[in-house]
Amino acid sequence: MANKPYIYVTRKLPESVISRLNNFAEVGMWNREETPVPRNILLNEAKKADALLTMLSEKVDTELFEVSTNLKVVANLAVGFDNIDVEEATKRKIVVCNTPDVLTDTTADLAFSLLLMTGRRLVEAVDVVRNGEWKSWSPYFLAGSDIHHKTLGIVGMGSIGEAVAKRALGFDMQVLYHNRNRKPETETKLGVEYASFNKLIEQSDYVLVLTPLTKETKGMFTKDVFKKMKKSAFFINVARGPIAVESDLIWALKEGEIAGAGLDVFDQEPISQDHPLLQLDNVVALPHIGSASVETRTAMMKLCCDNILAVLNNEKPKTPVNKDLFQKI
Ligand code: NAP
Repeated sequence: MANKPYIYVTRKLPESVISRLNNFAEVGMWNREETPVPRNILLNEAKKADALLTMLSEKVDTELFEVSTNLKVVANLAVGFDNIDVEEATKRKIVVCNTPDVLTDTTADLAFSLLLMTGRRLVEAVDVVRNGEWKSWSPYFLAGSDIHHKTLGIVGMGSIGEAVAKRALGFDMQVLYHNRNRKPETETKLGVEYASFNKLIEQSDYVLVLTPLTKETKGMFTKDVFKKMKKSAFFINVARGPIAVESDLIWALKEGEIAGAGLDVFDQEPISQDHPLLQLDNVVALPHIGSASVETRTAMMKLCCDNILAVLNNEKPKTPVNKDLFQKI
C-alpha cells in the first residue's frame, strides 16, 4: 500500500467510471461535483500526487509544480489546456494529457445549436411564450436571421471546426475558414474555402471561433475586427472567452456594429447575473457546456484514466499534449 502511487482527482467523478484507478493506486478526490477544489487543498494534495486528474477550473502552474515533487502526469478533462503551463510541465518532464476527439461531435452539435439559437432568436422566443407575452401572430414577430444559404466563417478549422462545417453544409451554408495552416484535403473533402482572417471577417454572416486560447489568439477579436464584420453578422464563441476582448464585444453589440452574439465561454466563468452581456437582448449565453453530454463526459473521464494509468505504467498515453517530452522519456 505504501508503495502505491497517489492520484488526486479535482472534482467528484462517478466511482463507476474511475474505479479502475483504485486497482492500481491510492485515489483521493475532491468531494464536490459542482464547485472546484480550493487552491490550498489542491496544493496540499499535489505535494504527494504522482498524477492529477484536473478540470479546466484548476490553474496548473509553476507554484503547483514547485510543490509537486512526485508528479508525473496531469490529465485534464478537456481538449483545451490553457489552464496548464505546458512549457513549465515539459521542463520538469511532467506529461500533460487532454481529451481531444472524444468530444468533437458533441461540441460541434452545441456550436451549431448555439448558432441556430442566436440567428433565429430562440431564447427570446421561448421566454415570450413562458412569460405569457405571445399575443398574436404578426409579420415580423421575433423574425430572426436565416441560417440556410448564409456564409459561416470558422476561425480555427480543427477537429471541431470540421465537424461544425459538415453540419453547416447540411444547411446549405457556404463555409469559409481561417487557420494558420491551409488544409487542402479538407477543402476538397468538404468543399470549404480558405480565406484570410480579414476576408472571413468581412464576408461571413456567422463568425464562429474554434481556436485554442494561446498567446497568439488571446484578444484576437477587438473593436477593429468587430467593426469590419457585417452589421447583420453574428459572433459565436465556443472556444475560450479571452479570445475576444470582452469590453470590445459589448461595445460592438451595443453600438450595432454586429447583430448579436452566441457565447458558451467568457473571460471569468461563471459570469454573474448582472454581467453587462446578460443585459443585452442580442446575446445568447450558455454556461460552458460545449462537451456536456453524458456519453461524452463519461468518455472524457475514461480517457483521462487511460492516460494516467499509461504514464504511471511507463507507457505512452493515448493523448499527450507535450508529445516530444514523452518520446524522450
Ligand atoms: P484542434 O483540432 O487543435 O483545432 C484548433 C484549430 O485552431 C486548428 O485547426 C489550428 O490550426 C487553429 N488555430 C490555432 N491557432 C490559431 C491561430 N492563431 N489563428 C488561427 N487558427 C488557429 O482543437 P479542437 O479539438 O477543434 O478544439 C478547439 C478549441 O475549442 C479547444 O482548444 C478548446 O479551447 C475549445 N473547446 C471548447 C469547448 C466548450 O465546452 N466550449 C469544448 C471543446 C473545445 P493551425 O494550427 O493551422 O492554426
